[in-house]
Amino acid sequence: MTPKIACFLAERKPETPCLVVDLDVITENFESLRQALPLADIYYAVKANPARPVLERLRRLGSCFDTASIYEIERCLDLDIPASRMSFGSTIKKEPDIARAYAAGIDLYAFDSSAELEKISRAAPGARVFCRLLMDGVGADWPLSRKFGCDVDMARDMMLRCPSIGLQPWGVSFHVGSQQTDPGQWETAVSKTLTLFTALREVGIDLKMINLGGGFPARYSMEVPDDRTYADAIMSTLTRHFGNALPQLIVEPGRGIAGDAGVIQAEIVLISCKSHNDPVRWVFLDVGKFGGLPETADEAIKYRITSCRDGDPTGPVILAGPTCDEVDVLYENYKYYLPLSLKVGDKIEFLSAGAYTSTCASVGFNGFPPMKEYCI
Ligand SMILES: *Cc1c(COP(=O)(O)O)cnc(C)c1O
Repeated sequence: MTPKIACFLAERKPETPCLVVDLDVITENFESLRQALPLADIYYAVKANPARPVLERLRRLGSCFDTASIYEIERCLDLDIPASRMSFGSTIKKEPDIARAYAAGIDLYAFDSSAELEKISRAAPGARVFCRLLMDGVGADWPLSRKFGCDVDMARDMMLRCPSIGLQPWGVSFHVGSQQTDPGQWETAVSKTLTLFTALREVGIDLKMINLGGGFPARYSMEVPDDRTYADAIMSTLTRHFGNALPQLIVEPGRGIAGDAGVIQAEIVLISCKSHNDPVRWVFLDVGKFGGLPETADEAIKYRITSCRDGDPTGPVILAGPTCDEVDVLYENYKYYLPLSLKVGDKIEFLSAGAYTSTCASVGFNGFPPMKEYCI
């Protein structure tokens, strides 16, 4: 937790649950990635944390923005982010939304299917398009496999059609999976990308861009390599495959920018056991799966947790949310150890919770309002 966040929590004593984002960490993460990958344009993945102050900070730093809905686009436009600094990166878009994005000036679109390509050709004539390749998400704690992308053969055939339907075949994208803990995973992706570039060059189509996706990690319970390690792995596989003729490069970090910048503070609502001699305490919090921690599904993302009684002897706990739904258990198989001295009313914090939390909270399941977010 940064001193700024610690101070804010101590002095303001905001109602819990809440997310506090330190904008200076957003800056540090952005600058660190920019330094590590100077050849790549950074398109921040807005969905990770679309808070206005976060977007404003990134706009001032010169970031571009990867958007996934017309609503994200309109939010960026509202903040005076020029359309030329945005891509419409979702592969699943309604045609009228593409038309609205096009009218706003956006001319870079993702697709991974013929039907989507046809929508873009009708609603955004002349636009630049990039095809997303299918990845398997190996090594990622939050894989984005199966749902997105297509194989190289199909990508080639769709790219070939582009000129005849009035689109510019611009590039290739992939996502190696979110919270990708293995920098080596870009290797397979870049190799597939080269196959596609080569196949298209043979038929006279020169792609211009590789979109290397997101996947850069936040610091949860496991240590992760730093930006430089990722950058070295990515650049070495790129130069091995493409030599010095590197296309334009784009990265789309979400978690890697916003994750470490935020802390969720929650309150303990209840501590109980299921029998007299049960060594495991159930600790119920005022935040759960529906309140902003959906990435605890299958215990995929394991946040670092601190409490006001750290340093005291600890014991195993099962952590659960406050709603009356059986799935609202955060961690049961992976055992967290928390101080035995914890009491009802104590505060605990989830560290590195700046991405995929506040905006993923339900609007009011069980009547619980979405948590407040403070950007400081
Ligand atoms: C969500 C998403 C990202 C961001 O992924 P992170 O792992 O959070 O960096 C990037 N690109 C696309 C297309 C996405 O859908």
